[in-house]
Amino acid sequence: MKVSVDPNRCYGSGDCVYRVPSVFTAEGGFGAVIPGREDTGDDPEVRAAAEGCPSQAITIAD
Ligand code: SF4
Repeated sequence: MKVSVDPNRCYGSGDCVYRVPSVFTAEGGFGAVIPGREDTGDDPEVRAAAEGCPSQAITIAD
C-alpha cells in the first residue's frame, strides 16, 4: 500500500513527522513522505498517522 501526503491539504502540523519519522519528513514546513518510503502504507504506525492527521492530508491506497 502506498502512502502519500496531499500538499494542498497539509497545513504543517508536524504530527505525522513526530509519529513516524522514518516515513514522514517536513519539507518547507509541510509534511511529506520521505523518498523511497512510499511503500509503507501497511505499517500500523503509518495508518495511525493517516487517521490522526488533523487535515486528512495523508492517503493510503494501492
Ligand atoms: S499530520 Fe497531516 S497536516 Fe500535519 S504535517 Fe502531517 S500531513 Fe500535514
